[in-house]
Amino acid sequence: MLYAENVYVRFGGLTAVDNVSLHIAPGEIHAIIGPNGAGKSTFFNAVSGINRASEGTIRFLGKDITSMNQHQVARQGIGRTFQNIKLFKSMTVAENVLCGFHMNVKSGLFADMFGTASQKREEEKLREECLALLKRVDLYDKRDVRCTSLPYGDQRKLEIVRAMATSPKLLMLDEPAAGMNPTETEELKQFIKKINSEGLTILLIEHDVKMVMSLADTITVLNHGAKIAEGSAEEVRSNDAVIEAYLGKSYRKTQG
Ligand code: ADP
Ligand code: MG
Repeated sequence: MLYAENVYVRFGGLTAVDNVSLHIAPGEIHAIIGPNGAGKSTFFNAVSGINRASEGTIRFLGKDITSMNQHQVARQGIGRTFQNIKLFKSMTVAENVLCGFHMNVKSGLFADMFGTASQKREEEKLREECLALLKRVDLYDKRDVRCTSLPYGDQRKLEIVRAMATSPKLLMLDEPAAGMNPTETEELKQFIKKINSEGLTILLIEHDVKMVMSLADTITVLNHGAKIAEGSAEEVRSNDAVIEAYLGKSYRKTQG
């Protein structure tokens, strides 16, 4: 589904992503882990068209997306969330999700200017789809609540739902559990499992190692921009380079 080959991202003298290749199969939950500054978010940005790869190729469903901007990438079927919450603070739950839907509206400039009947029908349809999505993810009862009034865990979930509004095939989540308490993290884990089982392929950056180990089919480990390991949870957690760079020696002890 996603085929990133020898990707570099450079900022002046700094190589933030250093020759990373990463392949994601449809239906997979694929996680990227690594210490702060390892280049995880920068890799996400390169895939989603926010900053360009300096070198390398990124293909999605066979199409070269390396030079696409973020709107073009979104239209190919890639949705994403950001490391820090980026909800529209003054809007309700439903309005936030509707904004996600609007990225997919296809009515052209003419319809936008004159508010044609076909555009109104499209708006109506989007509203219905939005409410159906909110029902599916158990946020329907909170649809008219201002998003900032939601508990923290639900705010982070809403970000994911907004990214799902464009009906992506691949959903990229940048540290979705950051700042969550154990209960919220567990709920998020179940939510990710559910949307994955409904057919969404997931690429996940996450610091909660326990969550990653129990969720991900494949784990890629980055350190200083470069890939140092890749494999199943079993393979990665017994890898000496990964323990050294990220998990720490105490991790090996606790795992026996
Ligand atoms: P991670 O998400 O793994 O914590 P990042 O991808 O955010 O790491 O950052 C990787 C490196 O790239 C860091 O050294 C960071 O300071 C640097 N970096 C990220 N974005 C930029 C930017 N826009 N300009 C310059 N340096 C950046
Ligand atoms: Mg990051």
